[in-house]
Amino acid sequence: MKLLEGKTAIITGASRGIGKAIALKFAQEGCNIAFTDLFEDENMKATEAELEALGVKAKGYASDASKFDDTERVVNQIVKDFGRIDALVNNAGITKDTLLLRMTEEQWDAVINVNLKSVFNFTKAVQKTMLVQRSGSIINMSSVVGVSGNAGQTNYSASKAGIIGFTKSVARELGARGVRSNAIAPGFIITEMTAKIPEDARKAWEASIPLKRGGTPEEVAGVATFLASDLSSYVSGQVIQVCGAMNT
Ligand code: NAD
Repeated sequence: MKLLEGKTAIITGASRGIGKAIALKFAQEGCNIAFTDLFEDENMKATEAELEALGVKAKGYASDASKFDDTERVVNQIVKDFGRIDALVNNAGITKDTLLLRMTEEQWDAVINVNLKSVFNFTKAVQKTMLVQRSGSIINMSSVVGVSGNAGQTNYSASKAGIIGFTKSVARELGARGVRSNAIAPGFIITEMTAKIPEDARKAWEASIPLKRGGTPEEVAGVATFLASDLSSYVSGQVIQVCGAMNT
């Protein structure tokens, strides 16, 4: 029996990177996948095809997770298309790193809206369906810098710390109706987001990690699979750091 057989998941920002790795891992475990990203582009089409090849129902939806009305629209469509929602992975995220001295209001607002408001938008939109089902697993992608802070990332760290507060509050608010809520806090994961970091800075990061390497999107996907599955049925309100012991 596969771990997620018969379940349906929504994953935001999953045309590439960690979101895509989660979608593929879930699909390998028998989960039907509705995923979103900003545009219906080549990445979305390729991801949809790779998921379908694993024998599950899969569809990509163009949506901006930072927009409240757009999220309501897309979640209503997904419920029509798939019939139920067992897991929500709030994965969409961006960085606009700079020192506070130079940070513009636009850089602050963009990161808070895409990273934090999106989590409110999607959780609110799936809430009714999960409450009626009396089950559901919400998985929010935070970051180690949401736990510890990071120079040059005040906007990003604040958004990721905000996600942790939201995750714990939802766990307390919806627990009585069988809905679980947890956060994953990845450390340094090798994706297009971290490819922007200069080579020497990347080497320095890796040297400071006890496991002496960056993580892979698949290693984050493994933890997301555990949280979406019934293996974690008594785990809620937690932050699981996936960081090679970088943050202890
Ligand atoms: P990525 O940039 O490779 O992928 C992010 C995806 O989100 C992209 O496909 C992008 O188009 C999509 N996206 C951006 N804005 C969106 C919006 N408004 N609506 C819908 N989709 C949107 O990044 P990644 O490294 O795969 O990161 C995924 C998540 O993991 C992010 O929340 C990120 O903050 C978090 N994270 C990443 C790392 C890391 O080291 N890579 C570490 C900690 C946390």
